[in-house]
Amino acid sequence: MARTVLVTGGNRGIGLAIARAFEKQGDRVAVTHRGSGAPAGLFGVRCDITDPAAVDAAFTEVEKELGPVEVLIANAGITDDTLLLRMSDDQFDRVVDTNLGGAFRCAKRASAKMLRARWGRIIFISSVVGLYGGPGQVNYAASKAGLVGMARSITRELGSRNITANVVAPGFIETEMTAVLPEARQAEIIKAVPAGRLASADEVAAVVAFLASDAAGYVNGAVIPVDGGLGMGH
Ligand code: NDP
Repeated sequence: MARTVLVTGGNRGIGLAIARAFEKQGDRVAVTHRGSGAPAGLFGVRCDITDPAAVDAAFTEVEKELGPVEVLIANAGITDDTLLLRMSDDQFDRVVDTNLGGAFRCAKRASAKMLRARWGRIIFISSVVGLYGGPGQVNYAASKAGLVGMARSITRELGSRNITANVVAPGFIETEMTAVLPEARQAEIIKAVPAGRLASADEVAAVVAFLASDAAGYVNGAVIPVDGGLGMGH
């Protein structure tokens, strides 16, 4: 059955791969963007997830065009790395407000309609760094770890209504975010990953699509790594 899917930050990177995976299986797919417009074939809504009014307006627009959001992928995120001693309050707040606050705003807005429908799928895109930690990433790791507590609390609140909230924790994926890392750092990462390579965004999208499917109805409050074995046990 075709569903209405909203992918935040689905205009590029991992979010776009996720949006395309849903599009391929025949779902109605909307993506948020902050001015770039939507890639061909996808319904685009302009939205900055740090702005509650913009989040509300984006959902309203999607509802009008495609129907209530049945599957939410909270994917939009940023990094602003620096060591703890150098990290400003603003750098900390901005990353947490985008990655964790933005996910909260979208999940809250989506959940009202999911409750009414007695069906819903919320998938948070976290990171291996959320539970493993990363030097220079106090803000980012805190925001990504926070998504786990958020998903598990939503599971406890809404699990009996056929609503699942899960976390996907990608390792290092070939995107613009990793392309900017110095070559030596990239080589270091590849050495540390049991799979011996970075992942493609499609490998993340496949796991997200599974979690959104009917087959995954009993998977709730889970953290699913897609990291080539990097974070085992975390
Ligand atoms: P990109 O940097 O390629 O894209 C980030 C996306 O988030 C863009 O669509 C961007 O929109 C959107 N975004 C950023 N801030 C906001 C905001 N305030 N409001 C709305 N949208 C916003 O990231 P990736 O594709 O690499 O990453 C996607 C997710 O996966 C992120 O949450 C990231 O933390 C996570 N991740 C990435 C990994 C990697 O190796 N790349 C590894 C693990 C996790 P715009 O185009 O308007 O800027």
